[in-house]
Amino acid sequence: MSSKAKFQAIRGTRDLLPPETALWNRVEQTAHEVFRTFGFGEIRPPIFEPTELFARSIGLDTDIVAKEMFSFEDYEPSTVFEYRSALVIWHEPRDVQGPPGPLGTGALAKFQPFAALLSLFCLAGRQAFDNGLIPRTPENDSLLNELVGERDIFLSSIQSRNDRENCADVDRLKERIRRLQLGDELTLRPEATASVCRAYIEHSMQQMPQPVKLYYMGAMFRRERPQKGRYRQFYQIGAEVLGGSDAPAIDAEVIELVMTFFARLGLESTELSINSIGHAADNCRRGYVELLRAELTKVKDQLGADSQRRIETNPLRVLDSKLEHEQGIIAKLPKIADHLCDECKTHYAQLKRQLDLRGVKYVENWRLVRGLDYYMRTTFEITARGLGSQNAVCGGGRYDGLVELLGGPPTKGIGFAIGEDRLILSLQEGGKGSVVEGRDVYIAWLGENAYATAIRAAQNLRKAGVSVELPPSEQKFGKALERASKLGARFALILGDNEVSSGEWTLKTLADGTQAKFAEAALLEYLKQKKV
Ligand code: ATP
Ligand code: MG
Repeated sequence: MSSKAKFQAIRGTRDLLPPETALWNRVEQTAHEVFRTFGFGEIRPPIFEPTELFARSIGLDTDIVAKEMFSFEDYEPSTVFEYRSALVIWHEPRDVQGPPGPLGTGALAKFQPFAALLSLFCLAGRQAFDNGLIPRTPENDSLLNELVGERDIFLSSIQSRNDRENCADVDRLKERIRRLQLGDELTLRPEATASVCRAYIEHSMQQMPQPVKLYYMGAMFRRERPQKGRYRQFYQIGAEVLGGSDAPAIDAEVIELVMTFFARLGLESTELSINSIGHAADNCRRGYVELLRAELTKVKDQLGADSQRRIETNPLRVLDSKLEHEQGIIAKLPKIADHLCDECKTHYAQLKRQLDLRGVKYVENWRLVRGLDYYMRTTFEITARGLGSQNAVCGGGRYDGLVELLGGPPTKGIGFAIGEDRLILSLQEGGKGSVVEGRDVYIAWLGENAYATAIRAAQNLRKAGVSVELPPSEQKFGKALERASKLGARFALILGDNEVSSGEWTLKTLADGTQAKFAEAALLEYLKQKKV
């Protein structure tokens, strides 16, 4: 990169800038207020967690875990690490003149250094393993043992092979060497539900009054194809209710919370879809999934590659398909509502009644599924306008099995996540995105005396919450007024020596150019009233 090359934000990430950040602040402030009124407390989990936490909770079978996670190995710099780096970038030297003597010439001179380096690596690796400096996993243990043997075989075979064969073996060994795990596998969080459940267990929150109601907001990371409303670093506002009962009233109140938040922001044309996906039992979802699999197998030839694969891995996900030509086929598939067990059926009916009681409007969508085993019963999604095909602003559902899956006690759970980027986009599209920018007051001062007064005035106004621009150096009044209107200030406070000595300050309203004189106290009072 030349010294003049410009840096740019990484693909799929972006800078949020003023004045738009004022809208982000308004959204987040409103979230804090609304969530508090529903009795939720804020949790701020870390941005990265062990990869295993997400693998286990979100599921290996999902796009997120299979291909979208930003993962890295967290290791201390060490000699093992240095040897590993040296080995994986090693390549055979060209035309080496071998030293005379036992090393011989040709192949041995070329490839013996790799074997020597590998010996050092094995030695340092074993030492680090014994001292617990690298993860003491069975995989690391046997890999280190095997590599010693493989090094011996490599060394003794060098002279009986040609360069190409030796190179191929070096590549194979490099692949093996890379497998040595030097540190913990960590991942930038792709979502926060797993972290909240981990925290619930870690801090024994089951001993607190149940349910525990938590909300969070912050950045999430997924390696997806960036497009409008889809980023690699994006933001979610979400909440989880953990513990206590699975009363449908809880599901309904969680949904009511989101709808109240959206209404408070002025988000228009939202549509809430709900569904029940039952629970993992033979007389409920499991039975339905088998039926679905059987029906899908009959029409397999007419389905796309993704859906064909999902017949085996996760038939429910086929219902998610957006492919035009699959829609007619999917419409004829059996519906889960007809295959719920009695308890799940009742739970779902109660959910709808509870939503009605709260005046929350919804549509039922039998194709709304969450493909994971721990999700159960209530699922919901909210779409908003102006977002094209990325129109889901919120997804949520019940996940009674998750805390237990992560090693905690059996615990009920339900939650949702709002895509804040999409929420903001939709507010902007709907004309609800404008936020007042610019300053309340620009202080146009001239002269040393006036400056001291201007500083004092700025301090008093700011204390009262008025936003003030105090230019750092003297300007002619004409210039100052020009800058005031460029900055979008509403008023210019004019302070020259005359004003200071008379105690009569001039306030100019920039929108219409009118001027009025005030004594200091009266002017402060007037501006406090007028502040945005
Ligand atoms: P989608 O079907 O749009 O990919 P999802 O099912 O992956 O959504 P969830 O994991 O349920 O989404 O996350 C909840 C919300 O977070 C989504 O409804 C969406 O608003 C938002 N979201 C998810 N992924 C992204 C992303 N890459 N960029 C921006 N927002 C996102
Ligand atoms: Mg997604």
